Amino acid sequence: MTGFPEHLLREDLRDFTGYSSARTSAPGTATPARIWLNANESGHPSSVDVDGTSRRYPDPQPSALVDAFADLWATTPDRVVVGRGSDEMIELLVRALCRPGGDGVVVTPPTFGMYAVSARLHGSPVVDVPQVDDGLTWRIDTEAVAAAAVSAGARLVFLASPGNPTASVVPLRQVSDLAERLSDRAVVVVDEAYGEFASQRSAVTLLEEHPNLVVLRTLSKAHGLAGLRVGLALVHPDLAVVLRRVQAPYPVPVPVTELALRALTPEALEATRQRVGGTLRLRDRAVRALRDLDGVRAIYASEANFLLVRCDDADRLLDVLTADGIVVRDMRHLPGLDDALRITIGTDLEMTALDRALGDPS
Ligand SMILES: *Cc1c(COP(=O)(O)O)cnc(C)c1O
Repeated sequence: MTGFPEHLLREDLRDFTGYSSARTSAPGTATPARIWLNANESGHPSSVDVDGTSRRYPDPQPSALVDAFADLWATTPDRVVVGRGSDEMIELLVRALCRPGGDGVVVTPPTFGMYAVSARLHGSPVVDVPQVDDGLTWRIDTEAVAAAAVSAGARLVFLASPGNPTASVVPLRQVSDLAERLSDRAVVVVDEAYGEFASQRSAVTLLEEHPNLVVLRTLSKAHGLAGLRVGLALVHPDLAVVLRRVQAPYPVPVPVTELALRALTPEALEATRQRVGGTLRLRDRAVRALRDLDGVRAIYASEANFLLVRCDDADRLLDVLTADGIVVRDMRHLPGLDDALRITIGTDLEMTALDRALGDPS
């Protein structure tokens, strides 16, 4: 396997080994450890946790969960880093690759706000390379992204595919092209938070080919577990080691690991696929209803569980929906989207309520 381009890592952290927790520093003696008195945990379970499941600090990277994700993505456990949602993965990437106050981060607006938030909190300059709006979908300008990354000396490029709020995918050959062009310059991150809804296969299939490629996935969207806070990065094994070092100790609580593992059983995954199918059908239905509505200017093609809609009078539409207790996301604060709303595809009942509120008598 080609190595990860080491010079992309923060110079000042190259010899940093991170916090050595009671779980990371197990003794290497011949006699198996049987009495654990090294972490100042209670010797007794809590009265609210009678079987003591949560008595001890968890494994920083719970191996059963890491293995389950590796299986799901047909990759090896050494490429998996799990944590508190993809949000934490974004933060770890910025932390591991950008010198504070130094190396920049390229984002492609309109896009997910957390990339710029993490960069700013770290003191990293954010370089915007706007997407091209062709009226039905949004497109990344590969040429411009590569040029901006090089001229800004950026260490990270964030792409969301399917994008939020664009709902468009970045074609895999474009991801591959960008990773190739920036192979010794920057890490290219493909955030696939909505990957389960997309028709294109995952960029995970390109990881072997591109050491500087990272794919983010989450249990927050299609899996229906946003409150669990579990996300993961699929990365080059050398980068995985570094990300784990800069991560806070014990990021995945014991009850969270248990529920996440249950979400990854074949039965639960099949149920998730069924739900995704239902969401796609409701999305098509919502498109048909909105298309016929007066004042709707454009509905972007969606590869996700939401629709990005432009309207003549967003205030009026918002008023109508609010009066019915229906909340959608106002996107008008984003550049180029001063007439746009983002509508999540909910349950059948919720979507019927939306149709009714919008004046569909059916
Ligand atoms: C919702 C969303 C996420 C999810 O973040 P989590 O921290 O995993 O909940 C990540 N990226 C994008 C583009 C999103 O829209």
